[in-house]
Amino acid sequence: MQTVPCRQCGVPVNASDATCPQCGALQPGRAQIEAVGYVWESRLRWMGLPLVHIAFGHDDKGKARTACGMIAIGQRAVGGVAIGIVAGGFISLGVVSVGVFSLGVVSLGALVACGVNAIGALSIGVVAVGYKVGGVATFGWKVLFSVTK
Ligand SMILES: [Zn+2]
Repeated sequence: MQTVPCRQCGVPVNASDATCPQCGALQPGRAQIEAVGYVWESRLRWMGLPLVHIAFGHDDKGKARTACGMIAIGQRAVGGVAIGIVAGGFISLGVVSVGVFSLGVVSLGALVACGVNAIGALSIGVVAVGYKVGGVATFGWKVLFSVTK
């Protein structure tokens, strides 16, 4: 293994390391950060946004990409239909999901939320909080169904 000094802090690191163990810099063995991941957007646009935008990884400044489109797919996704680890949109699906209609592990929905932890007007989940709720542990005005009651 070839060791080189970290670009930011100077600590010896392997040339192929993804991050510096000392300072956390991305690609510390390189003189410049190289963009990593995948980006694609449709040519068709609507209201200034691409119809479909897919974005993963980070750009050449080390900044994590955010997918932003009418249909957005990525680690961070914002759009009409957002699918990602962190997703925000009218319809959103994600580990952490915020939207009008939301599905996720942690799900926040203005109207409907489904997920392990769901908070919304109508929420269905293992832990459900809202106006109308259904699930295992429910906290709501009207309980549609509940395992614990
Ligand atoms: Zn470093």
